[in-house]
Amino acid sequence: MTSAPRPWFQTDRIRDDLYCITEPYYRLDYRANIWLVKGRDSDLLIDTGLGVSSLKLYLSGLLDKPLKVVASHIHYDHSGSCHEFEQVFIHQNEHQALSRGDQQLILSTPEAGFVADEDFDSLPYQGFSASHYEVKACPQVQAIQHGDVIDLGDKAFEVMHLPGHSSGSIGLYNAKAQTFFSGDVVYDGELFDDLDDSVVADYIDSMEKLLHLKTDEVRPGHYHSFNRRRLQQLVTQYIDDKKAPICPSEG
Ligand SMILES: [Zn+2]
Ligand SMILES: [Zn+2]
Repeated sequence: MTSAPRPWFQTDRIRDDLYCITEPYYRLDYRANIWLVKGRDSDLLIDTGLGVSSLKLYLSGLLDKPLKVVASHIHYDHSGSCHEFEQVFIHQNEHQALSRGDQQLILSTPEAGFVADEDFDSLPYQGFSASHYEVKACPQVQAIQHGDVIDLGDKAFEVMHLPGHSSGSIGLYNAKAQTFFSGDVVYDGELFDDLDDSVVADYIDSMEKLLHLKTDEVRPGHYHSFNRRRLQQLVTQYIDDKKAPICPSEG
């Protein structure tokens, strides 16, 4: 396989203060959205991709203020480049694991083989091999918890702890603008609640918290953005599926 044409990333400008960065040579259904929010006093990067190419270098032209980096949760498709940045935050439940580079949690069970050579349409660099892939430890990462506020000067994001997909999954909510960054808690695609660190009962509780969230702009960790109506549909669908009585033959 040949190496990917540079750059490895692709940027879509949503509006003056919002950009979505992706890794177009990685398989579509695992490829995460990396969100860059420009603020008055500082900028906010939500998630960091696989870490197979320097995100910091790639973004340098877009960054002109102090940068706060928040990982929506620990999984490799979101935390890969955290180690490149100075001011990095993750929920306290996953703080130690990212700080130490615990591949078992980061790769969500390496034995499951979530990262494979065939998932790459082009190699990020010459000699890349998925079998050697790992996410670098991020000793500088700081712990955040539910209710903490990430303040950019002209806009602020409240941390909502929404476990279930993983124990430290969070969403970031801007109540004034009614925008919500949902990470892997909810997106318009197959949701994962059977990973090693998933807890379905917690997932249901988290979804119930989102049912009445005032937002008309959901910016998810995967796939396209959606509105409140779609959020309610996705949340309701998940809750109904999980609460449906189990067929006796399966029980
Ligand atoms: Zn995840
Ligand atoms: Zn993900």
